[in-house]
Amino acid sequence: MVKGYRPSNLKEALELISKEEVILLSGGTDLMVKRKRCSGVEPLFDKPVVFIKDLLELKNITFKNDILTIGAACTCSEIANNDLVPEYMKEVVLCMASPGIRNMATIGGNICNSSPVGDTLPALYALESVLVLESLSGKREIPINEFIVGPGKNIIRKDEILKEIRINIKEFNKVLHRKVGTRKSIALAKLSFMGLAKVENGKIEDIRLAFGAVGPTIINSKKIENEIIKKGTISKEDIEEIKTKYGEIIKPIDDQRSKANYRKGICLNLLGYYLEDLM
Ligand SMILES: Cc1cc2nc3c(=O)[nH]c(=O)nc-3n(C[C@H](O)[C@H](O)[C@H](O)COP(=O)(O)OP(=O)(O)OC[C@H]3O[C@@H](n4cnc5c(N)ncnc54)[C@H](O)[C@@H]3O)c2cc1C
Repeated sequence: MVKGYRPSNLKEALELISKEEVILLSGGTDLMVKRKRCSGVEPLFDKPVVFIKDLLELKNITFKNDILTIGAACTCSEIANNDLVPEYMKEVVLCMASPGIRNMATIGGNICNSSPVGDTLPALYALESVLVLESLSGKREIPINEFIVGPGKNIIRKDEILKEIRINIKEFNKVLHRKVGTRKSIALAKLSFMGLAKVENGKIEDIRLAFGAVGPTIINSKKIENEIIKKGTISKEDIEEIKTKYGEIIKPIDDQRSKANYRKGICLNLLGYYLEDLM
């Protein structure tokens, strides 16, 4: 038998996790797969489970002073149906899984699972999202690229819950999001690309580039982005140089979904296509 707790608010949940080793379960779409056993046998939860998906403090989506705040327990469907969420974020969550899974899968679960193929991650890296972690001793605000430290690894403490994700929404007029998988839906990414830029009068004012499933975590580089912004305009030669620079930091592996060469080649093609389109 699995022991479970259903706290009625965040404080109660934080008190529970400060006293006892537990497993936090939000939508359960990652956990139920990871802990499944043979048919007819309950999944292996070796510690009590704390259900957090219905905690109201984790369900808000607000927009204030250019900051979009998304509660960690908001599902992909809730995010896709919220008018405060920009279209490019909606597109990202709508490419995940199937409608049934999207009704359960939460953005907090996708982040805390910390897989390099997590579909929300390239956009959240590109947007320099900040995660708010809460425990009984207070809150910590951690940039997403410091939170995830390897495949499936992050720095959350046992007494913390990811409460919300804060995104400073800027105006981007050139957006390209591509998830390359075996099928259009219900397939994990072989690779993914997120490009966001603001181009005005032919000048690149801002640019964010992120690649998923081609390294131990999401690949991006503030240094290269700043070099592009400094140039303002880019020639064909510049694009080749930028591709070479990203080629040095994109380090995919061969696995059951794809080959490293394919992953890297398509990432660089998408990058080249996107940069050419900017100009
Ligand atoms: C059929 C199927 C298809 C899928 N397709 C995709 C896909 O296309 N793209 C994709 O990216 N993913 C996919 N997934 C994976 C999964 O749906 C997502 O990663 C989802 O966002 C996980 O969210 P969840 O709420 O279900 O997480 P859960 O399974 O509840 O939790 C995942 C992990 O995060 C922790 N956690 C969850 N919320 C919090 C919180 N607020 N604070 C602290 N820790 C927390 C849990 O303890 C656990 O370790 C798929 C899964 C299935 C079953």
